[in-house]
Amino acid sequence: MKTTSDIRREFLEFFRDRNHAVVPSASLVPGNDPTLLFTNSGMVQFKDVFLGAEKRSYVRATDVQRCLRAGGKHNDLDSVGYTARHHTFFEMLGNWSFGDYFKKEAIAWSWELLTEGWKLPAERLLVTIYHTDEEAYRIWCEDIGLPPERIIRIGDNKGAPYASDNFWQMADTGPCGPSSEIFYDHGPGVPGGPPGSPGEDGDRFIEIWNLVFMQFDRQPDGSLLPLPAPCVDTGMGLERLAAVLQGKHSNYEIDLFRTLIRRAAELTGTPDLGNKSLRVIADHIRACSFLIVDGVLPSNEGRGYVLRRIIRRALRHGWMLGVREPFFHRMVEAVDALMGEAYPELRAKRELVERALRAEEERFAETLDAGMRIFDEIADRSGGTIPGAEAFRLYDTYGFPLDLTADIARERGLDVDIAGFDAAMARQRETARAAGKFASGAGLPADLVAQLRPAEFLGYDRLQAGGLEVIA
Ligand code: ATP
Ligand code: MG
Ligand code: MG
Ligand code: MG
Repeated sequence: MKTTSDIRREFLEFFRDRNHAVVPSASLVPGNDPTLLFTNSGMVQFKDVFLGAEKRSYVRATDVQRCLRAGGKHNDLDSVGYTARHHTFFEMLGNWSFGDYFKKEAIAWSWELLTEGWKLPAERLLVTIYHTDEEAYRIWCEDIGLPPERIIRIGDNKGAPYASDNFWQMADTGPCGPSSEIFYDHGPGVPGGPPGSPGEDGDRFIEIWNLVFMQFDRQPDGSLLPLPAPCVDTGMGLERLAAVLQGKHSNYEIDLFRTLIRRAAELTGTPDLGNKSLRVIADHIRACSFLIVDGVLPSNEGRGYVLRRIIRRALRHGWMLGVREPFFHRMVEAVDALMGEAYPELRAKRELVERALRAEEERFAETLDAGMRIFDEIADRSGGTIPGAEAFRLYDTYGFPLDLTADIARERGLDVDIAGFDAAMARQRETARAAGKFASGAGLPADLVAQLRPAEFLGYDRLQAGGLEVIA
C-alpha cells in the first residue's frame, strides 16, 4: 500500500522531473498578508508572484503546503467529524506555472499522474469546467479523450441550488480565471450527486484536484483584460488523494489518520475506533501542533483564539470519552512520527509544542467539568434554544468559546441564541476592558513563549520540502 508519505514524495518527484522547482511549505501564518488569518491554500505564498510584485528564480514550482481552514474566510471546522473529506488542517499538493505553461500541460500532467502514475481507473474520474471555457473543454474531450458526459459545465453559482463555482478570483480586482476540478466517484454505495447538481454536497463524488487557470486581470469596472503571461495554480488534497489510492472512502481511514485515531483511542480508553470524537481529536491535534510550530499561542483574540477554540473542542471530546487527565499533548509524538520527516520544523519544536498544549489543557481542566454540568442544567430547561446570556456565562466563567457551546448544542439538537450572546458580549466589553489578561501566551512560562516565537526565515535553499532536498 502507498502511504501518505509515499504519495507526498511521489507528487513532488513527478513535477520535479518535469522541471518544477521543489519549494517548501510556507508557515500557516501568512508572512505577506496581514488581512489573511491563515494560509488556506497553496497559492498564498505565491500571491505576490502572481501580482507581479515579486520575482522568483523559477517559473515552474511544486510544493506541499500545510493549510488551515478554521476561522477566517474558509472555515471547515464545523464539517470535521461529519463529512468524509474535510479537515481543519490538511496538506495541499500543488504545481505552479508563473507565466510558463498553461491549460494544455496542466491538464495533461494531472491526468497522466492520476491515471498512469497512480493507475486510477479513468472511468471513476469526472471533471468540471467553467461553462464558457471552450479551451479547457477541447483539451479534456479531444486531447485526453474524456467522454462529454463526464465534463460538467459550471457557471458562477449565481442563485444556483448548489455551491460550485468554477471562476476563481483573488480579490474584487486583479488576477482571476476559470478553474477545472477533478472528482473521484466513490460509487453508488455512497449518498451524493455529481458536481453541479443539488446533491453535490454528499460524499459520493469527491473533489480531489482543483486546477486554476489565471488568465485575466479584472479591472475596477468589472471588465476582464487578458494577462500578458497566464499562470497555473493547482491544489490537490493529500488526504483525499490518499483515501482514493488506499481504496478507502473517508480521509479518516487512511494510514495517517488510522494511526492518529488508534493513539487517541489508547489515550482515551475508547474501544470503538469509529467514534466521532476520535476523528475530531485526530484532526485537531494536527492543526494545533502546526499552529504552535508556526508561532501561534493560545490567547483570547485573533489567531491565538482560533487555536484556543480548536484545543478546547478537542478537550471537550476527550472529556466526553471520559478523560479527566491531560491527554491531548501526548498525541504530538504520533504527529511527529508521521509527519516530522516532511516537516523538520515540527520535529525541532516537538517538546515545546507538548508543553504549550499541556499548559492549555491544565488551564481548561479547571472549568471544563463544571462548565459541562452547567451546560446540562441549561439544556434541561432550555426548551430547544440555549439563551444568549447563558452561552455568555459559559464563555465568561467557564472558558467555553461560543463555537464550543454551539458544537455541543448541535450534537443534542439544540440551537444557541447567537444574537443574545453577541449582545451580552458587547455589554461586557463596554464595562470592562481587560487588557494584559488577553495577551498571546498569557499564563505560559516566559521561556516557553520566548522559544516559540516564529522562526526566522532561513531562505529557501536552507530548507527541505516533503522530505526532498529543495532544488530552488
Ligand atoms: P470542497 O468543495 O470539497 O469543500 P474546495 O473546493 O473548498 O473543496 P479548494 O479550495 O478547491 O477546495 O482546495 C483545493 C483542494 O484541497 C480540494 O480539491 C481538496 O482536495 C482539498 N481540500 C479543500 N478543503 C479541504 C479540507 N477542509 N480538508 C481536506 N482537504 C481539503
Ligand atoms: Mg470547501
Ligand atoms: Mg469545491
Ligand atoms: Mg475547489
